[in-house]
Amino acid sequence: MPEIRILSDQVANQIAAGEVVERPVAVLKELVENSLDAGAQKIEVEFRNGGKSYLRVEDDGMGMNPDQALLALERHATSKIRKASDLNKVGTFGFRGEALPSIASVSRFVLRTRPISSNEGTEIFINGGKMIHCKDCGMPPGTRVEVSHLFNSVPGRRKFLKTEVTEATHLIHMAKLYALAHPSVTFTLIEGGRTVFRSPACDSPADRVREIFGRGLAESLTPMDAQENDLRLSGLLGKPGQSRSTRKEMIFFVNRRPVDSRTLSYAVIEAFHTFVPKGRFPPAILFLEIDPAVVDVNVHPSKREIRFRDDPKVRSFILNSVLAHNRAMTSPSSGFKPTLPVVEYEEENGRQVPKIDSQALELFGQSKTTELSQPKPNSLQETISLKKKR
Ligand code: ADP
Ligand code: MG
Repeated sequence: MPEIRILSDQVANQIAAGEVVERPVAVLKELVENSLDAGAQKIEVEFRNGGKSYLRVEDDGMGMNPDQALLALERHATSKIRKASDLNKVGTFGFRGEALPSIASVSRFVLRTRPISSNEGTEIFINGGKMIHCKDCGMPPGTRVEVSHLFNSVPGRRKFLKTEVTEATHLIHMAKLYALAHPSVTFTLIEGGRTVFRSPACDSPADRVREIFGRGLAESLTPMDAQENDLRLSGLLGKPGQSRSTRKEMIFFVNRRPVDSRTLSYAVIEAFHTFVPKGRFPPAILFLEIDPAVVDVNVHPSKREIRFRDDPKVRSFILNSVLAHNRAMTSPSSGFKPTLPVVEYEEENGRQVPKIDSQALELFGQSKTTELSQPKPNSLQETISLKKKR
């Protein structure tokens, strides 16, 4: 009979790392969330080679004393919850106490941290989960984490990383999301010595959008704000007539956490259905504030997916708020002049025909050629028999 053994902490951390830090962008997310949880007013992120060779997150937050810093690197060590029932009201980004030990188990990891009350900082160096040193160091108050050679000690995982360009794109997008959700924090993102964006603290998400996504997107959006009991929806919505071929510019935050939520995106698409042609999407950057007790953020390893306790209530609030905003935007007193969606034409067999948006077709799992070569059914009966034949 095979012997049953408890795994060492190092192996357990490497296994957990597979879930928490599957790629560089997950490291960035966990570290930036820690900085925000630590009350940082200033966060600087730097990476090289798509984060594979180097990633640094530095903040001016509350820092840690030497004992706290050592404890923070143990599994399930967290200052954010005490008991299971605290999970019902999590107000911080982190709560599992898994990120730091997981990241440290699969990289060369240097943590430097100093609380404002102390004159000295602490430097802890861990390589592939093994502690190399813990010593005093001079530094300003705050915390700096440097992660290099990610997954070098686990070649199996390194294989799954995409090209440096792809990983860099994810890192930049994620940094922008957190910057967007926290305009009162000064954010800087540096890629291999080049500043990607530097955004000083500002008053509103609209200012942030202009600084980090550019004037083009900022000018295609209008601000909205709606409240109903304990739900609040605010942010920026595409002006009627604005649409995109992908959902990339539909960005949602729940309690300032970037999320992928079908409930939110479907409600917004539905509210825009008279303004946006089928297969195209309205640009939207929306922040939902909701009692943390009615959202479950503990359903996904990276907390990207969430579950609302009362999904229909959230859905109808979003739908009604966006509809009301669009109605106000297009009322005669608003000065809105309806524009028909722009239809592009292309030549086919010597005739000009409306161009099909191939990206929109891809969303439905079809390619342009298959769609065009299928005979078009005339009746329900024909549709059914056509489906049977396929
Ligand atoms: P979690 O965020 O789930 O608590 P982490 O492993 O990410 O778990 O962090 C462990 C603990 O280390 C945190 O609870 C926090 O007390 C401390 N910590 C981590 N990063 C920072 C930081 N940048 N500044 C201050 N404290 C930090
Ligand atoms: Mg954390």
